[in-house]
Amino acid sequence: MNKKKPTNIALSFDIEDWYHTPLVTGSSFSKYPTLEDFFQQNHEESVDCITEETLRLIEILDEFEVSATFFMVADVARRYPRIVKALKGSRHEIASHSLTHQSSIDAKTKQPIVSIDDWYQEQVEAKKVLEEIFETNVIGFRAPNAVLSNWMIPLLEKIGFQYDSSVAFNSLYNKTNVKLRDIPTTPYYINGDDLSHRTPATRLMELPWSNYKITPFLTLPAGGGYFFRLLGPLYFKRVLKKALKKGDSMFYMHPIDISRKAIPSENPQNRPLYWINKGEKTEKNFIRLLKEFSGSFTTCKEVFLKHQKR
Ligand SMILES: [Zn+2]
Repeated sequence: MNKKKPTNIALSFDIEDWYHTPLVTGSSFSKYPTLEDFFQQNHEESVDCITEETLRLIEILDEFEVSATFFMVADVARRYPRIVKALKGSRHEIASHSLTHQSSIDAKTKQPIVSIDDWYQEQVEAKKVLEEIFETNVIGFRAPNAVLSNWMIPLLEKIGFQYDSSVAFNSLYNKTNVKLRDIPTTPYYINGDDLSHRTPATRLMELPWSNYKITPFLTLPAGGGYFFRLLGPLYFKRVLKKALKKGDSMFYMHPIDISRKAIPSENPQNRPLYWINKGEKTEKNFIRLLKEFSGSFTTCKEVFLKHQKR
């Protein structure tokens, strides 16, 4: 019998708060260059836009009996005990979303903002912190702001990561330091030079972000997150259906995407559409997606194991 395995959507959440977003901290255009600078100037208890929201997402996932991957910023794991309590020992996978959500390269010049050695040490520490706090093995990595560089690949392997999920191929943006070409929407072993599926590949698997090819010259982003809030469930339904025909796909969100709280405005050049449709609307749209693709969602680790070459 040659029964075809059902295709899956690797479901993930990036657990970071509003002050980890690049307008506020950790990128070349942030108000505060680092998270440390932010805390030095914000002594009062900061607004928490993720504890209640993460707990709500876990409740929704339980309701639908869906397991997901939580890409944790290790700093969040240290400072948000209720999130840790809810996820530790649960059905969900814990993966790394770095130590402080610091971007590694300048958005425009693509040159490293932090030294490669500092970046390496931070990823080692983040993995260690998460493994100690959650008492679990961490095998997955997602680069903060999806800013992935080819020099990270051998280092991620060296640290002990087995998969990455950061490569977003589309016509609107490229956050890597290489020219991306023909990136599939299904998992592949990543090439250490151009981040593609070309051989010779490394031993690190990539779970790329979905996209939607409108014409040979126009490919729209469809990983989730901001574009899920902006473009809504109908667009994503179409995209995921199309992607699933090719194989396993990926979808992600942030707890903050369903937050009803007002996000403190920390940046004068704040983008007006940055938090579009945040809150109840996106929560409802996410539930629609869970219903629509019932039985398809699983963790990144499960998808990784399906594709792993032994
Ligand atoms: Zn992030």
